[in-house]
Amino acid sequence: MTYKKKIAIIGGGITGLAAAYELTQQAHQTNTPIEIELFEQAPELGGKIITKKDDPYLVEGGPDCFIVEKPWALQLIKELGLENELLNTSSGASGTFVFDNNALHRLPDGVMMMVPTKMLPFLASKLISWPGKIRMGCDLFIPRRKETGDETLASFVRRRLGKEALDKMAEPLIGGIHAGNPENMSLLSTFPRFLEMEQDGGSLIVGMLKRQKKMADMMKKRTPAPGPKKTFFISLNEGLGQLVNKLETVIGNEKIHCGRKISQLKQTSDNRWLIEEENHDPITADAVIVTTEAYAAAGLVKNELPRLADLLNEIPYVSSATVSMAFPRKAIPHALDAYGFIVPKIANRRIMAVTWTSIKWNHRAPQDMVLLRAFVGGAQRQELAACGDQEMLNLVKEELSSIMGINTPPEKSWIYRWPKGMPQYVIGHLDRLEAIDAITKEQKGLYLAGASYRGIGIPDCINQGRQAAVKAWEELK
Ligand SMILES: Cc1cc2nc3c(=O)[nH]c(=O)nc-3n(C[C@H](O)[C@H](O)[C@H](O)COP(=O)(O)OP(=O)(O)OC[C@H]3O[C@@H](n4cnc5c(N)ncnc54)[C@H](O)[C@@H]3O)c2cc1C
Repeated sequence: MTYKKKIAIIGGGITGLAAAYELTQQAHQTNTPIEIELFEQAPELGGKIITKKDDPYLVEGGPDCFIVEKPWALQLIKELGLENELLNTSSGASGTFVFDNNALHRLPDGVMMMVPTKMLPFLASKLISWPGKIRMGCDLFIPRRKETGDETLASFVRRRLGKEALDKMAEPLIGGIHAGNPENMSLLSTFPRFLEMEQDGGSLIVGMLKRQKKMADMMKKRTPAPGPKKTFFISLNEGLGQLVNKLETVIGNEKIHCGRKISQLKQTSDNRWLIEEENHDPITADAVIVTTEAYAAAGLVKNELPRLADLLNEIPYVSSATVSMAFPRKAIPHALDAYGFIVPKIANRRIMAVTWTSIKWNHRAPQDMVLLRAFVGGAQRQELAACGDQEMLNLVKEELSSIMGINTPPEKSWIYRWPKGMPQYVIGHLDRLEAIDAITKEQKGLYLAGASYRGIGIPDCINQGRQAAVKAWEELK
């Protein structure tokens, strides 16, 4: 009888599912008998991806979209045959507002990530003061930094564009993606492209314009992809849960074990891994792909590899919550002519941002209703994410009343909490990853992947999951 090799995956978020999918494909394409088992502690798969169909609403508890610029999510969706289900951001509105000085100001047209690329809308905007605009323009003359190496997002933006650009644009817009604090965010680990643009263009503005031109030239040369043009952010008609459900079907239910919390990993004398859990007999696998949060991974290896556990525990996390609310359209005095608004820390409010969900996406609420989603907590106001339900609803209602003039109670609301939900890539992250890699490379059959390491976005997680699976597969061969 031939011995069938086994690969275990711990964690059933998008990283773990992508890893299991990749292994399933490899086994199928090469006709190799191999056992794949995925363990997820929660009763459902998806991890941070939670889509709730609460007729007539469709609510996302965690992520609601991904970017198409990084190709790995789109590629997976195509492989899964879900391409016809892709949902562009709606064309009825565009852009975003920034709450400043007690008013919502439209982020000027042409601002890319925080960098102005169109002169007239930027000059006409009331969001940035005249001294602030002049300071941002100084980016064109400030010499590039001589030192190489990492820098915080805050230090970089203050240096190139000035404090007002940091406070009103970079902090809520760029820091907000990680729910992070720009004062400790590592630029090299989060947005290395900004440093490249500075080095490449001498200035951030010139670097961004060059990049735009390069992209436009590339698009001209490329044969257009078949099907409708895709927007920068994209989702699926039935929400991101549709991707999770499809992956579950393709991987096969028999390989997936929900409600199974792994407690420990131990190396066996024959270089395999013993996977222990309470209330179940341990199982042995030839390789383990750990896709849990870094602190959970630390718990799994703390007895076997204490130094690795210490390094994993050093990756900080912040907590946040999302509060979705459904209002009758007539209860909202605002024109809702954008996808929502962001709230800079300097505004000293209790919400980070609000997405006007049913304006941004079709198929999320009936015509006469509006679904909004507020973000609470993050690095700057973590304690708010732990508020009780009533307190959380009240604070969001108060903020919506004061910022948007909504004074009617929502007809329905949904709260999702994410305690320690967002890993933070702080200064030192890359050195930590190097030290983590040095240890895992020495451990045959142990792989770490997921949002804690090399990109928190869904495309990056998919890429990390698939790459870990390919490595495990190659080594087992
Ligand atoms: C509120 C919010 C909004 C976001 N919005 C976006 C967005 O719009 N676009 C985007 O691209 N990204 C977004 N992100 C980030 C993105 O959703 C996550 O980074 C990504 O989904 C993480 O996937 P993962 O598989 O690496 O980790 P997770 O989804 O965290 O999966 C890890 C899994 O491991 C399981 N686990 C832990 N310990 C054990 C154990 N001992 N045994 C078994 N299982 C275990 C957990 O239960 C969990 O299911 C958002 C995140 C949050 C919190």
